[in-house]
Amino acid sequence: MKLIYTHENRLLVNNVKNLLEQAGIETLLKNEFSQGGMGELAIFDCWPELWITQEGKLERAKQLVYDITHAKEQPSWFCRECDEENDASFETCWQCQHNKPE
Ligand SMILES: [Zn+2]
Repeated sequence: MKLIYTHENRLLVNNVKNLLEQAGIETLLKNEFSQGGMGELAIFDCWPELWITQEGKLERAKQLVYDITHAKEQPSWFCRECDEENDASFETCWQCQHNKPE
């Protein structure tokens, strides 16, 4: 098992998880629900962590994570439902889950 990605925003971690799984890489999410209820103790250790179970796919997974997290050349988009700005890699609005406009 290798830790491939962690971020304080659970939605970002889930987004990476979905993209890795679409690429055929099995993942395991840890600490998914440890945020909230932690009060003042919301420290780095409690960030959701995305692990991969197949170490042979580590390099491929790293490349995908890099691509996902550095996809800055694509413009972000604004949700038609709630006007929230979303990263280009998101297929649905992080705030209201409305689909990305075509
Ligand atoms: Zn929205």
